[in-house]
Amino acid sequence: MDNIVEVNNISFEYITEESKFKAIDRLSLNVSQGEFLVIIGHNGSGKSTLSKNLNAILLPSEGDIIIDGINTKDEENVWNIRQTAGMVFQNPDNQIVATVVEEDVAFGPENLGLESKEIRKRVDESLKSVGIYELRDRQPHLLSGGQKQRVAIAGIIAMKPKCIIFDEATAMLDPSGRKEVMKTIKRLNKKENITTIHITHFMEEAVEADRVVVMEKGRKILEGTPKEVFSNIDKLKKIGLDVPCMTELSSELKKEGLNIESNILTVDEM
Ligand code: ADP
Repeated sequence: MDNIVEVNNISFEYITEESKFKAIDRLSLNVSQGEFLVIIGHNGSGKSTLSKNLNAILLPSEGDIIIDGINTKDEENVWNIRQTAGMVFQNPDNQIVATVVEEDVAFGPENLGLESKEIRKRVDESLKSVGIYELRDRQPHLLSGGQKQRVAIAGIIAMKPKCIIFDEATAMLDPSGRKEVMKTIKRLNKKENITTIHITHFMEEAVEADRVVVMEKGRKILEGTPKEVFSNIDKLKKIGLDVPCMTELSSELKKEGLNIESNILTVDEM
């Protein structure tokens, strides 16, 4: 399968007058077309720095990132990269620019200079694909957190991306908002084959991923299917990923043949 995202041995340093801090340390990661990748790790592990590097908001200090064949250091193609790999941030209020939902979703396609008929089509399709077509003439600031985040996602979908990076897009939502946004993210991946990189600190959101990457101190410390990753309970606990989160995984993982009892995770005989 072709890789949409290739991260080749990158490091990233935040440099200020007084200090240097290596937030990403020799990290490599390929993401294939249609894959649902979840990146987990607790605060400060470098997840957000990585996502900003994937979108050319930051550029690697060492190594290269190739998005659909284009190096993020290629300044002339920055907007192509951002269109191919759209990004949804934590706070939808920072991503919503218009006062009416459908105008907000139209903003990106309008900036592409598309004809009004094509813009209309994209807006309608995008609103339908995130399940908020009926909210099209509402004011975004009056919507719930989950609905607002779906407006932000529709705005990205309208740009026809091959890949979407969700940078803690569920972090500010209440449980029902999180659920509705996760459902939308999964639907877009499965039904519309949009490659998905979902960055989160909620371990339970990783259960249905094709692959899970665990980050710690700017490095990739675990990688595999959810079953493989969550079998390393000692390592996860050691880096401070909460055991209470693990218990929430219990019922999901049981379906997969894993049991969590008294914080000890065992694998059923296959
Ligand atoms: P995460 O998203 O996993 O919480 P971040 O990528 O935000 O992690 O941060 C990784 C590390 O880089 C943290 O130690 C953080 O303090 C540091 N960091 C993040 N942004 C900056 C910045 N602008 N200047 C200096 N250090 C930063």
